[in-house]
Amino acid sequence: MTRCLSATRRGWSVLLSLALVMTVSSPAFAYLKFGFQLDGKEFTLRWSRSPVMYFVSDVDVPGVSVSQFQGAVAKAFMTWESVPSASIAYTFGGFTRGLPGENDGRTTLGFVNEPELDRVLASTSYLVDGDTGELLESDIFFNSAFAWSVAQAGERGRWDVESIALHEIGHLSGLGHSAIGETELVSGGGRRVLSIGSVMFPIALGSGDISERRLLPDDIAGISDLYPDDGFNDTTGTLSGRITKNGAGVFGAHIVAFGPRDGELVGNFSLGHDGQFSIAGLRPGPHVLRIEPIDDADTDSFFDDTEPPDVNFRTTVFERLVIVPRGGDSGAVQITVQPK
Ligand SMILES: [Zn+2]
Repeated sequence: MTRCLSATRRGWSVLLSLALVMTVSSPAFAYLKFGFQLDGKEFTLRWSRSPVMYFVSDVDVPGVSVSQFQGAVAKAFMTWESVPSASIAYTFGGFTRGLPGENDGRTTLGFVNEPELDRVLASTSYLVDGDTGELLESDIFFNSAFAWSVAQAGERGRWDVESIALHEIGHLSGLGHSAIGETELVSGGGRRVLSIGSVMFPIALGSGDISERRLLPDDIAGISDLYPDDGFNDTTGTLSGRITKNGAGVFGAHIVAFGPRDGELVGNFSLGHDGQFSIAGLRPGPHVLRIEPIDDADTDSFFDDTEPPDVNFRTTVFERLVIVPRGGDSGAVQITVQPK
């Protein structure tokens, strides 16, 4: 089941409706962040104020009262807020008759019945000031066409509010999708998730599952990169370089850094047509680098249709360990991949 295949689309349409001159390049910076352009100037989608105040729609669904819903999303907000290396905070402003998707200046989470979105559990939209690029509001809609639960241990056949909220609040905070996960196509359409290495993976594990109530290293690196707390940039390091094929840069290659000491996986894409990439928030020390094409998921969960990633190369493990220094950068790593 797709969590929010159309999340970015919905989001961008709100952006576009605000500022008609805006051209959207997604993702313009690191995939971990959303970038957009206003009058030729590039912005990173992030909150400039903290705490971020959110409201909850006064709408309940079978099995989940409004206050139970608020309790579950409050836990998810707290999970992001508790990341020690990130500085973002959130605060509950109250219940509202407003609904997510209304451009009322209030960040609102709640249920809306969208039966025609039969593969979208939830999605996040943004309202951005067309002059300054400031993020003014971000709403999350939960599709009440699905069955939901807030049960502590999860409930078979019902989607866990806290787990789905954790993913969407990552978007609300400015994070895009991560590609760390494995799926397989199922007959009749859609994909089944085999493993997930990031809460920001675009496809949810399954109804009844509650294992995604906790963040993984890739999510923690992402939120910390976007809202670094004191010390984050001094205690972690960056790995950067360039992916080439037949002498030219590869756009949209997925690069995963694996820290063998801790077993952590943190990823990013090569962005820009010169094939450059950068992965921030890594623990210092040696890392194994794997470069893979995004042919395991729907590419439009990660990239704009207008700029599809290059998937015509073989998965490659870089021939040597790359050392990430504390508070510094690995230095440009040159990696060559071979066409399929
Ligand atoms: Zn998503």
